[in-house]
Amino acid sequence: MPVPVRVRFAPSPTGNLHVGGLRTALYNWLFARHHGGKFILRIEDTDVSRSTDESIEEILDAMQWLGLDWDEGPHRQMERQELYKEKVEFLLRAGKAYRCYCTPEDLDRRRQEAQKKGLKPKYDGTCRNRDDQPEGIPFVIRFKSPLDGTVTIHDLLRGQIAFDNQEMDDLIIQRTDGTPTYNFVVVIDDADMGITHVIRGDDHLSNTPRQALLYEALEVPQPKFAHISMILGADKSRLSKRHGATSVLAYRDMGYLPGALINYLVRLGWSHGDQEIFTREELIQHFSLENITTSAAVFNPEKLLWINQEYIKNTPPLELAPHWEPILVKQGVLSEGHGLSIEEIARPIPSLNQRAQTLVEMAHKAEFYFCVWTVDGGSIGSGTKDVNINVPLHEIKIKGHPPSVSAGLKFDEKARAKFLTPETKPLLQLLVSKLANLKDFSEPTLETTFKEIIEQEGIKLGKLAQPVRIALTGKKESPGIYEVVLLLGKKTTLARLNNAIDWIDSL
Ligand code: GLU
Repeated sequence: MPVPVRVRFAPSPTGNLHVGGLRTALYNWLFARHHGGKFILRIEDTDVSRSTDESIEEILDAMQWLGLDWDEGPHRQMERQELYKEKVEFLLRAGKAYRCYCTPEDLDRRRQEAQKKGLKPKYDGTCRNRDDQPEGIPFVIRFKSPLDGTVTIHDLLRGQIAFDNQEMDDLIIQRTDGTPTYNFVVVIDDADMGITHVIRGDDHLSNTPRQALLYEALEVPQPKFAHISMILGADKSRLSKRHGATSVLAYRDMGYLPGALINYLVRLGWSHGDQEIFTREELIQHFSLENITTSAAVFNPEKLLWINQEYIKNTPPLELAPHWEPILVKQGVLSEGHGLSIEEIARPIPSLNQRAQTLVEMAHKAEFYFCVWTVDGGSIGSGTKDVNINVPLHEIKIKGHPPSVSAGLKFDEKARAKFLTPETKPLLQLLVSKLANLKDFSEPTLETTFKEIIEQEGIKLGKLAQPVRIALTGKKESPGIYEVVLLLGKKTTLARLNNAIDWIDSL
C-alpha cells in the first residue's frame, strides 16, 4: 500500500501573502486533493522580529477566500518550542551540535579577514571542538556539518542534485535568545507531521542539502522534494511590487474572482495539453507533478484579466453575487447594511457580465441600479420592489442637492447637458405618458412603445434612447435600454424620467 500523501504549506508571516506563495500553496493543495491526501497549514513564525499577527490573519483570509481548505492546522511554530528544545538536546548529546560563543563582532572580523585572503566567508569552526562551557556568556547552537563528502538530493522535478559538504557552513540552529532557526525547525516539523512531499519554491533549493544533513543527524526519514521555479515579471526579474500588485488580497479587492486567480496561477508552470480554463474539479483530477515545468514562468497581468473576464461571463449570477456584494459595498455602490438579498443583488448581473473585466468595473456599471439603496445608508425603495416604494423618487430631497436631482444617481454632466434639453423634453413626456399606461412591462411591449414614438416623430431610435439612457442611468453607456427599464421597474423608470423633465424645466 502506498503511503498516504501528506503535504504542507508553510508560509512565514512576515508580510502579504503574494501570488508566488499562493501558487506554492495551490500546488500542494491540488496534489493533496488529487491523491486523497492531507493538506497541512503551518505558520513559520520563529523569526519573531519579523512575524506579525496581521500577516497570519491575512494568510488565513486569503486561503479562505480562495477555498484552499486545510485538513490540519494552522500549526504555529512558536507553539512547538518544547519539541525543538528536545531536538537541540538530542543533537548536543549525540555530539552533532555545539555551543558557539563567538560574538557577532568576532565573526565579522574573521569573515573580513577570510575575504581578504580570497577564502569563502564561512564559519571557521573556532568553537566546534571546544569542551568547556563558560557560564554567563551568550551562545548560539550550531550544527556540526560534515567536513567532507557530498550530499545528494533527489528532486522530483530536477532529478539528482549533489552538493559538496565543504561548501556547507556550521548552521546556527538556535539563536542566542533561545529561538530555533528555519532550517532546523522545518526539518523537525516536516518529520513530526509525517510530510511525504515538500513542494516549494526553488529559492529554497540551497537550503535543501542543509536540511538533508539534518534529517540524517536527527535520524528521521526524508520527504520527497519538488522545487518549483520562481515567477518572474515581464522584464524577467523576480516578481515584485515593481511589477504591480502581488498581494493576493489586493486581487480580491480589485475585483478578481478566486477561481480566475487560481486558474491563472496554476497554469503558470503547469499544463494539461492546451487547456486554459479549468473547473476546480478538473484541476484536482488532472494535477500532477510530472506536468510542472522547471523553467521560470512570466507573470502576465493581461492574461489574468482575460481569464477573470471569462469567469465573470460564465459564473451563474447567483454564484457571482456573493463575490460581488463586498465589492459593491467597498466601492460605495451599496451602503453597508443595505439589506438586499443575494437574488436582488444578482438581478442586474445578466445585463452587465458580458463585458466587465473585473467585479469593480461591473460594480460601477451597476450604480444606476443600486443607487436608490445608498441614500442616507438606508433602503428607500427600489426598482425591484416597486410595491414597497412609498416615496416617489423625484420627491426625495438630498441634503445639499437641488430637489430635482434623482436620489443618488450620478450624472455624466456633459452628457446630461447634451441630451436632456428642451428639444428632447417632449420625447420624454411622450414616453412617460405611454409607459404610465402600459400594463405589461416586458421587452416586446417596451420595444413596441419605443417604436411607436420614433415612427410617430420620424426619428431614429438613438434620438429617443440616448436621452432616456441618461435620464435613467446618468451615463452615456449602459446595458440595453429595454434591459435598463426592466431592471428599474415601472415606478423608478417613471420617477427618473420625470426627474429629467423637471431638470430640463429648471434650466
Ligand atoms: N517558511 C518558508 C517561506 O515562507 C517556506 C519553508 C518551506 O516551504 O520549506 O519561504
